[in-house]
Amino acid sequence: APSSGIDYRAELNDEQFAAVTSAPGSALVIAGAGSGKTRTLTYRVAWLLDQGVDARRILLLTFTNKAAREMTERVRELVPHDLSAMWSGTFHSIGNRILRRHAEEIGLTKAFSILDRDDQKSLMGGVVASLEIDTKVRRFPKSDVLASMFSLVENTGVSLSDLIDQRYPYFIDWEEEIIEVHKRYTQRKLDTNSVDFDDLLVLTLKLLKEHPDLLALYQKRFQHVLVDEYQDTNSVQCQWIDLLTGGGASVMAVGDDAQSIYSWRGADMGNILSFPERFKDCRVFKIETNYRSVPEILDLSNAAIRANGARFEKDLRSARGQKGVKPAMVALEDPSTQARFVCQRILELRDEGIPLEEMAVVYRAHFQSLELQMELTRHDIPFGITSGLRFFEQAHIKDIAAFMRLVTNRRDETSFKRLVQLLPGIGAKGADKLWQAWVAGGWAKSEEIPDWKEALGSMKPPKKAVRHWEQLGYILDEMTPNGEFARPSDMVYSVLEGMYDEHLQTTFDNYENRRSDIEQLMSYADGFEDILEFLSQLSLLGSADGQPTGDKTEPDTEKVTLSSIHQAKGLEWKVVFVIWLAEGQFPNGRVIEADDVEMMEEERRLFYVAVTRAKDELYMSYPLINPKSYSGDVIQKPSRFLGDFPKSMVEEWKVSPSWDSSPDEDWGDVDEPF
Ligand code: ATP
Ligand code: MG
Repeated sequence: APSSGIDYRAELNDEQFAAVTSAPGSALVIAGAGSGKTRTLTYRVAWLLDQGVDARRILLLTFTNKAAREMTERVRELVPHDLSAMWSGTFHSIGNRILRRHAEEIGLTKAFSILDRDDQKSLMGGVVASLEIDTKVRRFPKSDVLASMFSLVENTGVSLSDLIDQRYPYFIDWEEEIIEVHKRYTQRKLDTNSVDFDDLLVLTLKLLKEHPDLLALYQKRFQHVLVDEYQDTNSVQCQWIDLLTGGGASVMAVGDDAQSIYSWRGADMGNILSFPERFKDCRVFKIETNYRSVPEILDLSNAAIRANGARFEKDLRSARGQKGVKPAMVALEDPSTQARFVCQRILELRDEGIPLEEMAVVYRAHFQSLELQMELTRHDIPFGITSGLRFFEQAHIKDIAAFMRLVTNRRDETSFKRLVQLLPGIGAKGADKLWQAWVAGGWAKSEEIPDWKEALGSMKPPKKAVRHWEQLGYILDEMTPNGEFARPSDMVYSVLEGMYDEHLQTTFDNYENRRSDIEQLMSYADGFEDILEFLSQLSLLGSADGQPTGDKTEPDTEKVTLSSIHQAKGLEWKVVFVIWLAEGQFPNGRVIEADDVEMMEEERRLFYVAVTRAKDELYMSYPLINPKSYSGDVIQKPSRFLGDFPKSMVEEWKVSPSWDSSPDEDWGDVDEPF
């Protein structure tokens, strides 16, 4: 028997067992939602450890931080082995880890900053301004659009000029200028010792490609590479895996082409379809049983995805009994009525004994959750959000982080400017001047932590800011006692008490909330000793996987999950509500307009991902009227996806206006203010 005591035969079906215990080599598990792909991968790790494989030899790649955490947790429960040497995480977090170790090889230092979308935009804005383009004659793409273009270029490997030709023909006359912006932007990142999110993938690939010695090192280290959600890899991620396993390591990829939902970000489901050809002697495993959902939900999911036409057939059979209830289809008057319905149903289900953390509401776009957030708050129902404005993207959190980023990376222009603009009397122009002085003084270059008072003393802030300028020196000193970095939580404390609390009180009306966010940040920071690790973690949490606000400090509180469908990938709940299932909302209006078969198929796959998250109960709802439109009320049609399966598969709920959806308010009173 294995040292873990796991009875692999009993806990896995035949196909899963075959995959889990397969001999070293390459293997692909391709199967529908809820068939136990992730479970197979988890047991595979346990199996390898049981076979005596050193945890150091294993690399486990997933798409969200949450999924990575859950998988590692699960393995830890299964086996007694020490997992600390195993590398597991998202592509971005593993890229970050590799880059920090070899930053010098690509012209960075290991303290490089990670730019988020906002930082990227401000850097881009500076570059565009430096080109002095006359945009009066013809519109030049905004920073946002430029960022998307560059991201697509990095993630797909298509050249910028081809991309402009094919996807941005409107800007074709600006091609030369756009290419120049890209060049300068790339250089600016290097100059400021910063990388953006795509760089975490792209630079890692570059590093591995250009340094055969390093590649050999990692090829040797990782004898077993395992990848979940392989259908959503883009060309860079795909090349990573190919390179890392090119030295003969075993690779196991699991995925489902019907759940490929990231093509808009460069993902290519061709990667999973061509996997067996790319890997010699690859074994392919198919699982045909679904363990997640009751048959009623499974039938509906199968029917929904079949509407996508020709595809690799893999209808799933349910392993669960016939005891389920039919999925519900609910038409509601308007968005607030829909929110009330969902809340009311959540309360009823909780009374029936279903804990809140077993329920989720998912939607196509983050803004579709606003009414619901208000309604949940009114009813005191706790919820966590895994989409939308992420904890780290909030202005006040970024302000605090700017201090820490500058302290660790004096070349970080974005953070420098953000920080000085917090002081009274300093705007974008002033910040620019101060930055010039900072660079001229040689402070941006200094490898050592500088004498802050001397550095700041050599620059002239406007009169209004003089007092704060002194405070700033004091804070920066406190953050680097004896020329070393203070603990991350102490750094947050220094900034908050030294200056930021005052800024909060004088700038924002919701001071209390923001202050408590920062306190939360402080207690989160308490878990870290190393400031670089802490900063990386903050940036990564804001990325592929939106970390629910506050979730870090109170993991045990019971709460409903609100999530975009993209972020809900791979997860499951007993009860799932899919809201805003109206034409123009989901499928999205732009997709309908584009009239493009492939885009519509991706929307349908997204719908498939949504409905397959549910184990026991599924509610699909849509508001009939959307009052938010400029042109007054808009009557909405139910989503075409609701017509993809026979009506007999669902229960159409009649929610009558007298139905008491709100404990303390009359139903008819839609005008009553919240
Ligand atoms: P998705 O495509 O949504 O990522 P998946 O194929 O990764 O789904 P899992 O999340 O691994 O599926 O499994 C779905 C559910 O079924 C989980 O709760 C899992 O524990 C359960 N399950 C899978 N296989 C078995 C099995 N052989 N016996 C019992 N339960 C199983
Ligand atoms: Mg999975």
